[in-house]
Amino acid sequence: MSRRLLVAEAHYWARRIGVENRLRQIHVRPMRRKWASISTRGRLTLNADLLTETAEFRRQVIVHELVHLKLGHGKHNKLFRALTKAYLSRHRPHRAE
Ligand SMILES: [Zn+2]
Repeated sequence: MSRRLLVAEAHYWARRIGVENRLRQIHVRPMRRKWASISTRGRLTLNADLLTETAEFRRQVIVHELVHLKLGHGKHNKLFRALTKAYLSRHRPHRAE
């Protein structure tokens, strides 16, 4: 897939999660140890290796980072896990919207 489509996916999820106004920049570049990162200022960095991963995996990575942006902290607490799960389960490919 192209970088442009990956960025479009991130915008799509930002709208769904309600953080479109906080997402200021999206970068796609090689990263050594992580699939993605998000800064509190809304800078999302996506590992260029995501371009060759499955749609489901890309979705998991993007939603994870954007839920961090929504909650405004880096904790993987109960609320974080519940929200992430909710956004992902509402979007199973085999289930009709
Ligand atoms: Zn995290």
